Amino acid sequence: MTDRMSLTLAQADPEVAAALDQETLRQHEGLEMIASENFVSEAVLEAAGSIFTNKYAEGYPGRRYYGGCEYADIVENLARDRARQIFGGEHINVQPHSGSQANASAFAAVLQPGDTILGLDLSHGGHLTHGHRLSFSGKLYRTTFYHVRRDTETIDYDEMEAVAIQEKPKVIIGGASAYSRLWDFARMRQIADKVGAVYIFDMAHIAGLVAGGVHPSPVPHAQITTTTTHKTLRGPRAGLIISTQDLATAIDKSVFPGQQGGPLVHIVAAKAVAFAEALRPEFRAYAAQIVSNAKVLGEGLQAAGFRLVSGGTDNHLLLVDVFEKGILGSDAELALGKAGITVNKNSIPWDTNPPLKPSGIRVGTPALTTRGMKEAEMRTIASWIAEALERRGDDAALARIRGEVAEMANQFPLYAWRRAPVAVTA
Ligand code: PLP
Repeated sequence: MTDRMSLTLAQADPEVAAALDQETLRQHEGLEMIASENFVSEAVLEAAGSIFTNKYAEGYPGRRYYGGCEYADIVENLARDRARQIFGGEHINVQPHSGSQANASAFAAVLQPGDTILGLDLSHGGHLTHGHRLSFSGKLYRTTFYHVRRDTETIDYDEMEAVAIQEKPKVIIGGASAYSRLWDFARMRQIADKVGAVYIFDMAHIAGLVAGGVHPSPVPHAQITTTTTHKTLRGPRAGLIISTQDLATAIDKSVFPGQQGGPLVHIVAAKAVAFAEALRPEFRAYAAQIVSNAKVLGEGLQAAGFRLVSGGTDNHLLLVDVFEKGILGSDAELALGKAGITVNKNSIPWDTNPPLKPSGIRVGTPALTTRGMKEAEMRTIASWIAEALERRGDDAALARIRGEVAEMANQFPLYAWRRAPVAVTA
């Protein structure tokens, strides 16, 4: 190995190393409340940063287009077997590089360009890949949408059925990025069957809750279930597809060579590690704590006078209508960021404000729950959020909260190896 090859990151690339140190500090001393984020374990991190990144392994275990794949086969088989143990399902593909690619592959397996799909409107909580015009899904396919009801802000299955009957979609896709309630998987399957559509459910946000047994599973109902592996499931940043056996070949071909080349073997290895973690009894307790934390956080915010979309949560996230208090979601995101609390601005259903200055924020508990925070911390955080939003123009107040936030965060240690010192940035 040349000398250059054996340098540490700090020696080889101080600029990237410095950014990494800063990010390490940010993750340690802030409160990460982006609903789609989490902290992986040291073991997952080790696999994701491993020399499997060097390996090409186009094809599937036992049927590769490259030599030297015997160990790649082992980790891919482990990932598949463990995913099947967690979720059931007849066929598993662990190769999608991301949730978007999992969805692209699922669609391509059962649709031709120009075919019609029916998904949840983005502005009502859906995902870009469920038919938005700027995504491949809206460019390749004819898209139609269902929404949430105005009165309950929960999925309008009657509208879904009416649109399905009228538009005859080939695929009906469920799942969301900003929806805090349970889905009626059986009803969706009934609607899909009625119009001869394939029912796909994208469980990206809730996969960890399903794995932990605190949320019903779409797998027995949907012909295809897609997911990311990095949200509540707490694995590396990637995707996964579960399907019925009759679609197995179409799915596998659709992922490779349809959408991707070589799988990211290091990430497949990290998925195997994360799936083993999700099979452990502690993961059930973790998933239950995520939901309990979200409920308590929601109650705290309601007590402080905030309106929650749909009135509450059944899962890991809350959609908070901050505009009811005259605050734009973008201003709320900024103020909370100054206070060391990371959330994202989000449209709410029937939003009268534009997407970049929407009426809501989305707040989630998976990452903080990984750090070991429980109900008591959620109550404190709810009061910090309320105070930071109230005093959003007062930088001194926000800095003071940031100091308190860092102090609490430091009581819930994250990675032991962090290099950067703990700095309370009040
Ligand atoms: N599906 C849903 C419901 C999501 O929320 C997301 C990401 O936020 C995705 C798919 C896309 O995942 P990725 O960012 O890995 O492409």
